[in-house]
Amino acid sequence: MMGKWSDEASDVVQNLREIQHNISEACIASGRRPEEVTLLGVTKTVPPARINSAISAGLLHIGENRVQEFLSKKEEINLENVKVHLIGHLQTNKISRIITNVDMIESVDSLRLADAINKQSIKINHVTNVLVEVNIGREQAKSGVMEEKLDELLYEISGMKGLNVLGLMTVPPIFDTEHEKRAVFSHMYKLFIDIRGKNIDNIHMDILSMGMSSDYIEAIKEGATIIRVGSAIFGKRG
Ligand SMILES: *Cc1c(COP(=O)(O)O)cnc(C)c1O
Repeated sequence: MMGKWSDEASDVVQNLREIQHNISEACIASGRRPEEVTLLGVTKTVPPARINSAISAGLLHIGENRVQEFLSKKEEINLENVKVHLIGHLQTNKISRIITNVDMIESVDSLRLADAINKQSIKINHVTNVLVEVNIGREQAKSGVMEEKLDELLYEISGMKGLNVLGLMTVPPIFDTEHEKRAVFSHMYKLFIDIRGKNIDNIHMDILSMGMSSDYIEAIKEGATIIRVGSAIFGKRG
């Protein structure tokens, strides 16, 4: 058992080094500084011991999809120097359990959810950092606001004192070619820059979270500031 664990952990450390290297190369290739890109390790289904080996190797941000799963693993994860992002769909009845346990909620995709997080935050005198999730590929099965509704949602959120909007997040369709991957990220980046130019009160556009194991290099080249990488660090999920 011990042997198996330590082998798996060395895998994770090796994968992390490789990804850090790829991040640097992608930044150099696109005239960006590696410090502009934050690597978020996506830890859904990953046991705490494996998460901790990534943290020991320097991972500073982790992302979890489900409130229940995160809360059940939390005590066993070495979180002292680590920021936690909620990246999965959030049900309103779980808000009170999660807002003080994470540093950011990346998946705000409706007025109803924004309003509920805002009310709960104000109630406990808290300001919750959020990103607004955009359904850039207009996919039925995915969460996220449609791009033509984004402005309206942001103007509505701008009055909410319990929320601190820091930017946008997206999970685009899976594409095979580099050209398609870059096109969708480039489209998302334009949207991000357009909104930034509108200078909406209380809405910051500093973070653009996009890119996963299969497309983080393309996402960096098109302006991602957070990449969310799971299987390329921790291996295939069971
Ligand atoms: C699972 C997940 C990821 C990571 O996916 P990988 O392909 O394993 O890198 C990133 N973002 C979200 C929202 C996810 O649910």
